[in-house]
Amino acid sequence: MKINRNYLNLEASYLFSTIAQKVKAYSEANPDKSIIKLGIGDVTLPLCKDVVSAMSDAVKEMGQKETFKGYGPEQGYDFLKSAIKDYYKSHNVELELDEIFISDGAKSDLGNILDLFDVDNTVLVQDPVYPVYVDTNIMAGRRILYLNSNEENGFLPLPDNSQKADIIYLCSPNNPTGAVYNREQLKLWIDYAKSNNALILFDAAYECFISDENLPRSIYEIEGANDCAIEFCSFSKTAGFTGTRCGYTIIPKTLVYEDTMLNKLWLRRQTTKFNGVPYIVQKGAAAVFSENGQKEIMENISYYKENAKIITDALDKLGIWYTGGKNSPYIWLKCPNNMSSWEFFDYLLNNIQVVGTPGAGFGKNGEGYFRLTSFGSRENTVKAMDRLLKFALAAK
Ligand code: PLP
Repeated sequence: MKINRNYLNLEASYLFSTIAQKVKAYSEANPDKSIIKLGIGDVTLPLCKDVVSAMSDAVKEMGQKETFKGYGPEQGYDFLKSAIKDYYKSHNVELELDEIFISDGAKSDLGNILDLFDVDNTVLVQDPVYPVYVDTNIMAGRRILYLNSNEENGFLPLPDNSQKADIIYLCSPNNPTGAVYNREQLKLWIDYAKSNNALILFDAAYECFISDENLPRSIYEIEGANDCAIEFCSFSKTAGFTGTRCGYTIIPKTLVYEDTMLNKLWLRRQTTKFNGVPYIVQKGAAAVFSENGQKEIMENISYYKENAKIITDALDKLGIWYTGGKNSPYIWLKCPNNMSSWEFFDYLLNNIQVVGTPGAGFGKNGEGYFRLTSFGSRENTVKAMDRLLKFALAAK
């Protein structure tokens, strides 16, 4: 028996374990200090009422002979796919029901989609990057090219024609940088993909944080994307489903490579390897699109966005450079005084007991940067920024 030796090429990720160790050591040495965590990428507000009641009703249905459901369609129930179709229509994107595939979250599909592609394809990711794009391709043994994302290009790099890639990852709004591509920039990526016969994997997990009407929420808002892009989305950050698990993937039927429709390949893959998302969860996800559901999730998103504003206001007062925070839950700041990411981590922990995520953990271009998130409580966000302002202004 031989193992997949590509797994041995994965770099161990010490980012979150090192953070946890440092926080633990600090709190043991300073038991009287209260630590505020603004590094988390998980939501803190609960599911909205409409979602909970839809799921409770679905549980009751499952307990009665007449309404019980066994295996559902692998690609998801029509009631949820129709709700997603209507949602896209509200952003002027026309989809057909069989172009929408319900998943148990974007992360699974981002990994699973790679089943469809030859190992010989070259993959293009940005640095800094959401590590899942890199690790899933290392597991498969694919060659990875890195595109510099940095202050110079506003952490929104554009295609470099000297780099020949077959599979391109784009994440907008971006994790970790919070930067969002505009229409013209996405069009350049689409043109690049089409001229290279490449495929874009577009991660829209944070689309609901976009409030600027001029910014695209879906790559399909841009002409030509139907011929060269798959889109991944998630209810995790939209509606607090990180623990409930539901997302969706869009594969237009116009996506054809080597005379083969990717939509058909994916359907074959899913019907073979996946048995669908629980009916109860899909009922909850569909309730996100009800009138009340939309109202409630928008209230939650506004809450996080106000947290982001509290953070960016404090950074503005201190003259600290950052991206994100406006159409994204992430704030990506430049560490002051040329501190490294980990130096700034220690500085915040030791002086004001605030924890964030060192940018170096997302790639070499993340060095010297730091990620804060708006997913904490209002009270903690206000407290953390008060501490930062008091400390930094006193030190000036
Ligand atoms: N894509 C990005 C960019 C993310 O940051 C995350 C989660 O943090 C995911 C995908 C995964 O989302 P899900 O919870 O739907 O698996």
